[in-house]
Amino acid sequence: MSELVELTPALLRSMPLPSPESGDKESRGRVMVVGGSREVPGAVLLAGTAALRAGAGKLQLAVGAAVAPQLAVAVPESRAIALPETAGGAIDPAAAETLAARADTCAALVIGPGMVEAGAAAALTGTLLERVSSPGLVIDAAAMSGLREQRRALQRHGGRAIITPHAGEMANLLGTEKAAVEGDPLGTARRAAEELGVVVIMKGATTRIVTPDGEGWIFRGGSIGLATSGSGDVLAGVIGGLLARGAAPAQAALWGVYLHGEAGHRLGEAQGGPLGFLARELPPLIPRLMAGLS
Ligand code: AMP
Ligand code: MG
Repeated sequence: MSELVELTPALLRSMPLPSPESGDKESRGRVMVVGGSREVPGAVLLAGTAALRAGAGKLQLAVGAAVAPQLAVAVPESRAIALPETAGGAIDPAAAETLAARADTCAALVIGPGMVEAGAAAALTGTLLERVSSPGLVIDAAAMSGLREQRRALQRHGGRAIITPHAGEMANLLGTEKAAVEGDPLGTARRAAEELGVVVIMKGATTRIVTPDGEGWIFRGGSIGLATSGSGDVLAGVIGGLLARGAAPAQAALWGVYLHGEAGHRLGEAQGGPLGFLARELPPLIPRLMAGLS
């Protein structure tokens, strides 16, 4: 196994994002964020806004019917797709059948932000994984909960999916203890990447990014202020936006981790201390940070 490479601005400059010089909004890709729930609709707003800030051309929010009108107004740049709900306010997994055709017209799919019912989230995710072929995938939060059982469907995507677990989610995903993940984050991430055939972003104070082929990077930047509600939703959205623009999976993962971490660092600096910025304040910093690396 090769050593981990440090994730630095110089590394990102050596793998520039697809050029935005020409083309219309269709050419920079449509992102669909599938997620939210009656209790946590805002996670979809955070992920979707972040995807647009990363340069995606268009945004669709696939959410429960009860929250769709509010989200459509809260994110006027989006199209909100209203889906049937479970009694608890999650997206009804049966919705995946019809949603899949629509999702397949998108360049990137971000599944999971704000999903709270693990069973419903896993069922919905499993069907989408079986049915969609075209989009790049970012799978986050409760949408990761059934992935081990769904690895055949996941493997259909040929290493083009990215998962974004923190230690607790990784433990749940692999059926192990959180302490075991924290004791060997790199080994665990490598195992998940290989078994599932996905790019793994193992999040934490230090973040490791590994591919199914055994390539690996480490990011030691960021800010403790990023350990805040909604922060991971922004990360998932940035990566989805970069995928929609045509970035390769590992490239989108690396750029996304850096941009999210550096945005948190800059917010902490600007306010004179690392704690207390809001996740929704991260996305507006992304365009300037991206431009600074081009
Ligand atoms: P989530 O737990 O899904 O909201 O994601 C939290 C995000 O914050 C991840 O990108 C983590 O890598 C990042 N993060 C959490 N704690 C720290 C920390 N102490 N230092 C830097 N980044 C952190
Ligand atoms: Mg999260």
